[in-house]
Amino acid sequence: METAGKLVVVGGGIAGVTCAEQLAITFPSEDILLVTSSPVIKAVTNFKQVSKTLEEFDVEEQPGSVLESRFPNIRVVESGVKQLQTEERCVLTEDGSRHVYKKLCLCAGAKPKLICEGNPYVLGIRDTDSAQEFQKRLTKAKRIMIIGNGGIALELVYEIEGCEVIWAIKDKAIGNTFFDVGAAEFLTSKIISGKPEAKIAHKRTRYTTEGMTKETRTSAPAGSVGSALGPDWHEGLDLKGTKEFSRKVHIETMCEVKKIYLQEEFKILKKKSLTFPKDHHDKSVTADKEVWPVYVELTNGNIYGCDFVVSATGVTPNTEPFLSGNNFDLGEDGGLKVDDHMRTSLPDVYAAGDICTAAWPPSPVWQQMRLWTQARQMGWHAARCMAAAVQGDSVDLDFSFELFAHVTRFFNYKVVLLGKYNAQGLGTDHELLLRCSKGQEYIKVVMQNGRMMGAVLIGETDLEETFENLILNQMDLSSYGERLLDPDVDIEDYFD
Ligand code: FAD
Repeated sequence: METAGKLVVVGGGIAGVTCAEQLAITFPSEDILLVTSSPVIKAVTNFKQVSKTLEEFDVEEQPGSVLESRFPNIRVVESGVKQLQTEERCVLTEDGSRHVYKKLCLCAGAKPKLICEGNPYVLGIRDTDSAQEFQKRLTKAKRIMIIGNGGIALELVYEIEGCEVIWAIKDKAIGNTFFDVGAAEFLTSKIISGKPEAKIAHKRTRYTTEGMTKETRTSAPAGSVGSALGPDWHEGLDLKGTKEFSRKVHIETMCEVKKIYLQEEFKILKKKSLTFPKDHHDKSVTADKEVWPVYVELTNGNIYGCDFVVSATGVTPNTEPFLSGNNFDLGEDGGLKVDDHMRTSLPDVYAAGDICTAAWPPSPVWQQMRLWTQARQMGWHAARCMAAAVQGDSVDLDFSFELFAHVTRFFNYKVVLLGKYNAQGLGTDHELLLRCSKGQEYIKVVMQNGRMMGAVLIGETDLEETFENLILNQMDLSSYGERLLDPDVDIEDYFD
């Protein structure tokens, strides 16, 4: 029996928009409601399946009306959800409206985890507004501190010019979310050298605000949460400080933030801060005479003053508006747990993208990572599952969840990550095969029981499709041994 209410999607990011579009296509005669707190939505354009699991697309920020004109049966409600009443099957929005649903998909994204809340000198970067605020402050900055070791920190460190950057990471090597120590070393030389170079044309997945007028680009209302930025979020933002040099980075490894002091407090406590180290190996840092707005004490005892701090320490699923009165099962990371049909633990409530935690038994070579590609795949799959449930059909987990596959660019190199690229969860009985030409390419393959389980490809290696197939078909490669990465062997011909 048809239940009253609409198909409702919450969130105008990639997950929500993809879900709403797919529902609109499947049910052309039904009204689909997209409820979002941001004045713009994110649309995937120029989607291209590059191989079985690798995909490329551009992302455009558009006013909701553009989505409505492309899909006449989508209605965009620009208002944040303040409460979800699952018993009454409805969402209440800030504008005082009540929307009854028959099926609901929550795609409200995630929020940056800040190292400390409420400090005006600590910034998180998440949406267009916060990125612009960061750029504005950078134009007046001589030195900043970046905390965190994920993709955002990596990109910032590489892009910032004319400003000293002290980068504090809790690991031994940079980019631990994506790389092992070897790959990190391969990349570190690139930032430490500080040489300016031609900027890349664009990333695999591109971010644009094409077609937007000044009015539609205006800020989201105070307190509301905009969509997460994605690849190339810094394109079009001039990330330049007050100085003339290009890149000047000092990395502090294996440490965290112990305390942050404002200028007055620091003066009273009579603590000493350090000057910017001359080079990467400089241990002879001296007391800094300069007065800074804010000081950061690290757990290794070093204290540095700076103009402001960027907290790039990951995200937390944005579940808060939906939890009151609802007994959702939550993952360890705080996301709404979803099964392989993107269903949460509550009836007719689905979730997709950064807000959810994949709680189904995954393929041995897939893991969830809060990335743009997965937001799209989850939004699409959620729509298929919602549609199948309405129509009484069954649906299988989409093929994109068979293999983790991500393509991006770091430090001007193409980077492809496949499967258990960092041997995540493989225990100790795995081995690594490596091939590295300094400044050109870095290839790492993770093998277990003669099978390829994952790979990191940095540079123009052209190996992604072959390796993708080898990981997917789990062929026994024991007899090839190290010849697998022999540059004189044309591996593609081997496995054709
Ligand atoms: P979001 O895009 O965050 O969208 C959430 C939506 O929900 C927004 O429209 C928001 O307004 C709305 N919303 C929130 N609360 C409510 C509410 N109460 N009521 C109604 N609506 C609400 N990924 C990559 O793959 N590659 C990268 O290089 C990359 N770089 C990144 C750089 C930065 C600076 C950041 C912050 C993220 C980056 N990511 C990257 C991650 C990627 O952007 C996210 O994984 C992806 O955007 C998640 O999409 P989503 O649709 O789940 O959530």
